[in-house]
Amino acid sequence: MTKKPTILLIYTGGTIGMIKDYDTNALKAFDFSRIIEKIPELKQLNCSIESFSFDEPIDSSNMNIAYYKAIVKVIENNYTKFDGFVILTGSDTMSYTSSAVSFMLENLQKPVIFTGSQLPIGDLRTDAKENLITSIEIACSIKNNKPIIAEVCLYFEYKLYRANRTSKINAEQFEAFASMNYPPLAESGVHLNFNEYVIHQPKETNQKLIVRENLVNDIAILKLFPGITENVVKSILETNNLKGVILETYGAGNAPSETWFLNQLKNAIKRGIRIVNVTQCAGGSVIQGHYETSVTLKEIGVISGKDITTESAIAKLMYLLTQDFDLEKLTFYFEKSLRGEISDNLE
Ligand code: ASP
Repeated sequence: MTKKPTILLIYTGGTIGMIKDYDTNALKAFDFSRIIEKIPELKQLNCSIESFSFDEPIDSSNMNIAYYKAIVKVIENNYTKFDGFVILTGSDTMSYTSSAVSFMLENLQKPVIFTGSQLPIGDLRTDAKENLITSIEIACSIKNNKPIIAEVCLYFEYKLYRANRTSKINAEQFEAFASMNYPPLAESGVHLNFNEYVIHQPKETNQKLIVRENLVNDIAILKLFPGITENVVKSILETNNLKGVILETYGAGNAPSETWFLNQLKNAIKRGIRIVNVTQCAGGSVIQGHYETSVTLKEIGVISGKDITTESAIAKLMYLLTQDFDLEKLTFYFEKSLRGEISDNLE
């Protein structure tokens, strides 16, 4: 690559592009063109930047699969023209969105970096500038004529993570994200240090990008807590048209062994609902069968989410449910790493 890398900045909304309405004190979205105006330093980067903004930027609480589709469409339409993509979204649902986008883009060969900020770009102590500048720098980093990053990532507060390994963990501090089960892919200090052993390396460089734009969102999260009633479990599992459930269990994937509970799960699985066991713990993995309280889950056909995050499990289920797999096939694909979201070396 001899010419300057070209980066497409895609603004969907979020604090990074917001401004205070001094009449109401609330933050509202503002004209995206001002984001470049606010960071003249961007001109110093050795790349050319173009930008695309959603007509009506959203707070990421309003994110949904139609917006996911819109984001991957912009990438698809511009894939050959640009060397990398930086996507600005609100941080609140950034882990969900970036995880979903990682499944929607198959055979990705270019960097797709999500970022945002905790403070609006115009604020004196904003974290937006560093997040945006370094994300762009990462998106245009090249080694041996190839992009260093060829996967969907999330950059926030000096760390680059594999997006589908992240969770938002703090609504106050600049360090808003964590990736408990996978190390950062890069860290920014005096130097930008890439941790090349944990970065995904595409096997073949000439594979065509496949965009999976359809997702199934007839799914639910069932989070267990001591005292949960049969009534609640039943009403979730009997939701009209329900296709899949992320069952948030305790510790290493443990759940009550009461008969009513196991019968509710068993009947739901018989009705064709796919149930995935994900731990409520921020770190560590589900090991079905490790304790007596998870042996039956495995026997009745509950799928192990291993060390996947809930955000990524939701995205993966939305993606795999489009395939019409039987339980065995869906279990096989869910329990295996497709985009680096799950550790293959776990049981
Ligand atoms: N509420 C905002 C959003 O997620 C927060 C942020 O941008 O960080 O859109």
